[in-house]
Amino acid sequence: MTMDHYKRSALNFFTASTLDRMALKRRDPQWLATSLEAQHSRFLPIYQRKNLLSDGEIPHPVYLDYREAKTFGDISESILLGTLEGLTYFALPIKTASDSLSSKGKWEELRWQASVLPHDEASLAIYAKALSHWHERNQYCGDCGYLTLNKEAGHMRECTNPESKHMHFPRTDPAVIVLIYKGDYCLLGRQAIWPQFQYSTIAGFVEPGESLEDAVLREALEETGLEIKTVHYHSSQPWSFPSSLMLGYLAEANTDAINLEDQELEDAKWFSRQDIKEGLRAGTLKLPSHVAISYRLIEAWFDEGEEGKLLELMPAKDK
Ligand SMILES: [Zn+2]
Repeated sequence: MTMDHYKRSALNFFTASTLDRMALKRRDPQWLATSLEAQHSRFLPIYQRKNLLSDGEIPHPVYLDYREAKTFGDISESILLGTLEGLTYFALPIKTASDSLSSKGKWEELRWQASVLPHDEASLAIYAKALSHWHERNQYCGDCGYLTLNKEAGHMRECTNPESKHMHFPRTDPAVIVLIYKGDYCLLGRQAIWPQFQYSTIAGFVEPGESLEDAVLREALEETGLEIKTVHYHSSQPWSFPSSLMLGYLAEANTDAINLEDQELEDAKWFSRQDIKEGLRAGTLKLPSHVAISYRLIEAWFDEGEEGKLLELMPAKDK
């Protein structure tokens, strides 16, 4: 039976279905003030777009209690993330990281560390990072240039211009990510800067005035020269590096002659399932790790064939 989209997306890393975002409490200053100081509040510090992760075999985000949060950061800048298993989580943007804060772990770029974190914690960590990044980039009003202030528990910034009080809300940038297939082959490409043998699906930002499907067709044509016949939605994944939302598709090509029109890809090839299986075994093909939706799109196509489950063929470190 076909899995519905909600269940499929929930399997994607960084999705946060178990977190209650407490959206209705964001405009309740009394609740917020009490929750910030409560024993069950936890703060995820973010410094220069990096998350503080504990050392150890399985790293975890470092969580500060209220007293520590007050010592290391500015509580008025904290951002409500939500509640999970009795705890209320906040992101805490840090302007200057003291040695005693930094000594609690390592400041890490989440993109390269996420796969070792437990799923729920990775989701919290990326959410904290995404909102902190948005605040950092919206200190001034895009309409009139006045300073803006943190409002609604960090889910709005309000312009200090008394004439206008412009309101600004967190943004996400939609991007399509597409596995193109034709008959028994799928198309994978690589960018010149990627590690040797690394191949993946194609992807690109949705442009103003485009539907998601328009974006799939355009990206396919620009990056590979292929014309697309059908487009099917698979699932989505927050990809806050810094603020994307990946919308995953499987698209059937009408043509098979590859032309790297816009030079974004260094190479693109058709792979049979057998090619993928042999490439993974020989180490001459590397696929994205399970953390990325691109892996899940390739898997969705691969597992329809007779060659077994893609996950079982993946090197242990990428599972
Ligand atoms: Zn303004």
